[in-house]
Amino acid sequence: MSDCIFCQIVAKKLPAHIIYEDDKSLAFLDINPNTPGHALLIPKEHYQDLFETPDENLSLWLSTAKKLAKGIKQGVRAEGINLAMNNGRVAGQIIDHAHLHIIPRFPNDNLKHWPAIKTNNEELSAIKNTIIEALKN
Ligand code: 5GP
Ligand code: ZN
Repeated sequence: MSDCIFCQIVAKKLPAHIIYEDDKSLAFLDINPNTPGHALLIPKEHYQDLFETPDENLSLWLSTAKKLAKGIKQGVRAEGINLAMNNGRVAGQIIDHAHLHIIPRFPNDNLKHWPAIKTNNEELSAIKNTIIEALKN
């Protein structure tokens, strides 16, 4: 994918502050961090999102993310870590190369969690049933 920014970072055609690399994945600092140490973990191969990324890559991914999260937390002296992945425009995905955000958290860093919506037992039950049905496919 020659026009993909992240593929160009993998190919070292674009600069990035790389913190980790192995044969399957690369991690580098986000150019517009939410907090100091905010990093992105990506598969070296171009997959658009979670759904396109093969399971073998994904299972490796989480253990790599855990290792990185530990290093980042220690490196920037964070007190916690958020892992986040945006899939689809509506979910806030801007770069169409799968990536996991590793965001260190600090007391009073002003990052807000998503607000909850109102619901009730009936609605939760109906939603549960549609998801269980969909999982059968
Ligand atoms: P998304 O919204 O797609 O989940 O997140 C894409 C992330 O990539 C954003 O947080 C953005 O700041 C970061 N980003 C976009 N372009 C570049 C770049 O050229 N270099 C680096 N290091 N990060 C980038
Ligand atoms: Zn790419």
